[in-house]
Amino acid sequence: MQESGKINLKGLTRQELAGHLAGIGKERYRADQIIRWLYRQRVSEIARMSNLSRSFREHLQEVACISQIECLREQLAQDGTRKFLFQLNDGHTIETVLIGDKSRLTLCLSTQVGCRMGCSFCLTGKSGFERDLKAAEIVDQVLQVADIIDPGGSSRGVLTNIVLMGMGEPLDNLEEVIKALEILKYDNGLQFSSRRITLSTCGLAPKIIELGQRMEVSLAISLNAADDALRSRLMPVNRRHNLAALMAACRSFPYTKHRLVTFEYILFAGLNDSLDDARRLVKLIGSFPTKINLIPFNEHPELPFKKPQQKQITDFLEYLQSHNLTVMTRRSKGADISAACGQLREAGIEKSQ
Ligand code: SF4
Repeated sequence: MQESGKINLKGLTRQELAGHLAGIGKERYRADQIIRWLYRQRVSEIARMSNLSRSFREHLQEVACISQIECLREQLAQDGTRKFLFQLNDGHTIETVLIGDKSRLTLCLSTQVGCRMGCSFCLTGKSGFERDLKAAEIVDQVLQVADIIDPGGSSRGVLTNIVLMGMGEPLDNLEEVIKALEILKYDNGLQFSSRRITLSTCGLAPKIIELGQRMEVSLAISLNAADDALRSRLMPVNRRHNLAALMAACRSFPYTKHRLVTFEYILFAGLNDSLDDARRLVKLIGSFPTKINLIPFNEHPELPFKKPQQKQITDFLEYLQSHNLTVMTRRSKGADISAACGQLREAGIEKSQ
């Protein structure tokens, strides 16, 4: 728990931590020692930071604390996907999903309580917006899940990848998300490389450009339509930042051979799954180096959309492949525990794409 008036050590960048320590007369290298305790050793008590002198620890305990989110519930899906419900210090709850896939164990993090973006196919969007998460709350999802699945372990344990694809639009909470990404990457902490962290956005074009200038990370775009009229119906963000603006932002985003921008395209029966839609998608992407993930919609009683027939999915996929696009179909996991894309929500409610 976070004690009021105290500095929360969790969620501070190295620079912020060093600044606070300088304020109490401590050397810069102490910041790295504390980072190692927090994220390498996953320690949640200042008293356990045994390479700090007793008097330093006592002083630190007077002025600082280490916050912790609390796991209220864990659910296991038939396909092995695990969903965790966490309570934040102010009583709000968020969900975090752990997805196993061949050699990867990916944790899907939330970045907001709710979401302002209002995508029509997403239950998180329908639940409204409560507040942004702090960097500490974003990073703590990783620490808590690592402790649950790898008790007594260190650093990120058996977790291999992070996706920011849970509740909330990460770029609508850019400052805290950038801090969290910085912390996730620390060499003496959780050690996630840029290739192993993917941020997924609905398309806040100016923030995509800013992110590309400030942080190395893999980028995924929740695209879902290749014409403005349909995309604006599905995703209101498109009325502010249309496809031309979105594609220009993507083109500005730094990429490498191993870190291409990914486009996620949810297939909705009768809405965006025709060969005309595939043709528009090919035209939109052009020669932009990218990967496309086709995700057949996960039906849900509260949402009016349907999943396409298998033939429709195959035809769409083959059309894109025949135009030399790198494309694969991806199934949302954990649908039976409402952990699939677009099904996460607050407290027993569900959440995002
Ligand atoms: S899909 Fe993502 S951006 Fe859209 S409403 Fe859901 S959480 Fe928000």
